[in-house]
Amino acid sequence: MTQLRNIPSVERVVSSDLLSREVRAYSREWIVSLVRLQLDKARAEVRGGAEAPSAEEVAQATRLLLDNMNRPAPVPVINATGVVIHTNLGRAPLSKSATDAALQAAQGYSNLEFDLSNGRRGSRQAHLQDILQQLTGAEAGLVVNNNASAVLLGLSALAAGKEVVVSRGEAVEIGGGFRVPDVLAQSGAILVDVGTTNRTYARDYENAITDQTGAFLKAHASNFRVEGFTASVEPAELVQLGAACGIPVLHDVGSGALLDTEAYGLAHEPTPQESVASGVGLTFFSGDKLLGGPQAGIIVGSRELIGLLERHPLARAFRIDKMSLASLIATLMHYLRGEAEREVPVWRMISTPLQILEKRAESWKLAASSSGNVGGTVVETRSAIGGGSLPGETLPTRALSLDCSSLRGSAQGVMQRLRGAHPPVIARIENDQVLFDPRTVLPEQEEDFLKSLQGAIGAD
Ligand SMILES: *Cc1c(COP(=O)(O)O)cnc(C)c1O
Repeated sequence: MTQLRNIPSVERVVSSDLLSREVRAYSREWIVSLVRLQLDKARAEVRGGAEAPSAEEVAQATRLLLDNMNRPAPVPVINATGVVIHTNLGRAPLSKSATDAALQAAQGYSNLEFDLSNGRRGSRQAHLQDILQQLTGAEAGLVVNNNASAVLLGLSALAAGKEVVVSRGEAVEIGGGFRVPDVLAQSGAILVDVGTTNRTYARDYENAITDQTGAFLKAHASNFRVEGFTASVEPAELVQLGAACGIPVLHDVGSGALLDTEAYGLAHEPTPQESVASGVGLTFFSGDKLLGGPQAGIIVGSRELIGLLERHPLARAFRIDKMSLASLIATLMHYLRGEAEREVPVWRMISTPLQILEKRAESWKLAASSSGNVGGTVVETRSAIGGGSLPGETLPTRALSLDCSSLRGSAQGVMQRLRGAHPPVIARIENDQVLFDPRTVLPEQEEDFLKSLQGAIGAD
């Protein structure tokens, strides 16, 4: 236990030269509390058999902790992976006007829940009603924090204590911990799974109807694909089946593609408009996948069902914040104005012509060859949609491929230096080559991208 006595005192660490700048810049109490934290850690380590650290070592660790806390987070990164909706990198980048709208909502007061015509309390949902109605054809809409909470709210409000019939092929994990059976259980509904993993027929749903049935749930299998001998029931058919017994259909379409993905050479992604037109009771979708807006969960459907959801206590718990609401409205307006392909970044990326991608990759190749002794080629490869949208669907692209075998740490070393660059660049490795896909690098990031790239390959 003599080692415990060798641990420096708080005072000795705080008065170390290594912390003098910090003590001057911030409150002394804060530095003292951080040093205490480090000393607690040191004591635990010493009890585990480690040597006691010196005052300088504790001061150094305290400074590191401070530096980390002072760093803004999350920091912007450049996405050169070619995955358009990259959940780990923040999903959809926002359009200029969606960004401006969020900023404006954040900076001052607004009529978020205030009716300017009569001076009374208003609803934050009012601002969206006309827009959602015109975009999807639904009678009413409700927006919450994300699609996971949207589905949980819908099930809780309509089916708690009742049975919800789901196809076995759709009682799945959608990713990020969103499991249809778990969400159902959390809502208080009882899962009745019907059919088999690959084939479910209308009669399976029909046979499952009891006087306890609260809803049919259809969930889009958005991150995987079952191929071959498969069958599922179209929403319209379920609507017909349910109508006879007053059972509503709840349809989680996932991505919220308001544009036709087939027009871009991709597989068909169910659109909210189609879902509404099929007559389902409620349609659920995300704001930050193919819709290309902020994190949000959008619910559209009949006025009656939306009203039930609005009055449920979870609607308050899941309510959308003012910045997301403002940028969601700005994003949706791009679709109504017919300018989504040009203005919404995810659609601009998806629709970028191959010649432009090729030109950018060629110019990157020149920049790379001028700053490192690496062999660069422009290769034909594929960009992915990602983000639990269009499973396995890719778009042809042109990427810069760098042979980094002669550089320190080879491809993995270059990837690591790219992550440590300012701003960090996230690329991908294919066949031991480092690949940079221009599709997901925003044009205004080009200059920063090249600086980070040149630093990572030229620093040897
Ligand atoms: C992504 C997804 C969700 C979850 O949506 P979040 O907005 O991420 O909460 C739910 N259902 C489906 C079908 C999805 O694709």
